[in-house]
Amino acid sequence: MADKRDYYEVLGVSRGASDSEIKSAYRKLAKKYHPDINPGDKEAEVKFKEASEAYAVLSDNEKRRQYDQFGHAAFDGGAGGGFDFSDMNMDDIFGDIFGDIFGSFGGGRSRSQSNGPMKGQNVRTSVRVTFEEACFGVEKEIDITLKEECSTCHGTGAKPGTSPETCSKCGGKGQVVFTQQSLFGMVRNVQACPDCRGTGKIIRSKCPECGGSGYVNKRKKISVSIPAGIDNGQCVRIRDKGEPGINGGSRGDLLVEVIVSRHPVFQRQDRDIYSTSPITFAQAALGGDVRIKTIDGEVIYTVKPGTQTDTRVRLRNKGVPSLRNRQVRGDHYVTLVVEVPTDMTQEQKDLLIQFDKAMKGEAVDADIVEEKPEENKKKKKNIFNKKK
Ligand SMILES: [Zn+2]
Ligand SMILES: [Zn+2]
Repeated sequence: MADKRDYYEVLGVSRGASDSEIKSAYRKLAKKYHPDINPGDKEAEVKFKEASEAYAVLSDNEKRRQYDQFGHAAFDGGAGGGFDFSDMNMDDIFGDIFGDIFGSFGGGRSRSQSNGPMKGQNVRTSVRVTFEEACFGVEKEIDITLKEECSTCHGTGAKPGTSPETCSKCGGKGQVVFTQQSLFGMVRNVQACPDCRGTGKIIRSKCPECGGSGYVNKRKKISVSIPAGIDNGQCVRIRDKGEPGINGGSRGDLLVEVIVSRHPVFQRQDRDIYSTSPITFAQAALGGDVRIKTIDGEVIYTVKPGTQTDTRVRLRNKGVPSLRNRQVRGDHYVTLVVEVPTDMTQEQKDLLIQFDKAMKGEAVDADIVEEKPEENKKKKKNIFNKKK
């Protein structure tokens, strides 16, 4: 490192530069040369490392004073002559700069979250409802295991009569910062403190009831209000029934996924319902009233004379209510399917043959000849697909 560049020159500032000028100069360089932005670019890596080193020194009043007085020699005591980053709190120096460039640098939680109240994790579960229950809403009771505050230690985790101590490794912060020098300049890792597992507290004598966790598992019945109009896969959120918070944070939420059973008749798409309803050939031809199943019960629908098979009719407002406003409902589309009779009696067959002859304009006679299946098929086609 014989011809190491001057730190001021590296940052492109004058020797009398203010703290904010130094900071803004470094921020520009860091944005330009950061290894995350220039993957695999060795030259950028070197530049980034050089700028970071310069900034680490010039942003620290004491180090800047030493550098002004002695130059690089001020920091040459260590092995290899390089600047030793290991004794510096990189979080304090670079935290806010990388914070606003990258959100959070180093992959850890940002400092503002450490040891502060944190909301507990959400817990997911599911509940099964019928098609109709999803349409009209229902109250369901579900069994879940909730972590409840231990009544013996009142959540401290410490044996009654004792109390938790502040963790000496992290000083109660709950997290520790490791800095390592690497090709990329420095790498800062923030990790949950291994001694206290991020709680900031050490429990010497554990509560016998909860084993030091402060919580006991309790099986609970919880009532879930499932709103009308909910669809398969949607979730109902129940506040404060998730995992307990950390350091006085609120509990997470319980997310109940609703699984809607298939219905034998109805199918749903958004707020609309689809079904098929059989009608007889006579109803199709002559018209008449048919009963159609809806989620509100049976309705009478008047079929027009000459209705073809696969005719789709719309029953307005017989679909699924909107989740937001249950007065607003989708529609129910019914496909009318003309049923071809099977297992006919001889008398019925005779009448149908007479009918067929009448349709063709042939003389209707009393002598009935057994028809071959192929011819039958052909005639069915004639009857039912006249429109084609
Ligand atoms: Zn306890
Ligand atoms: Zn700790």
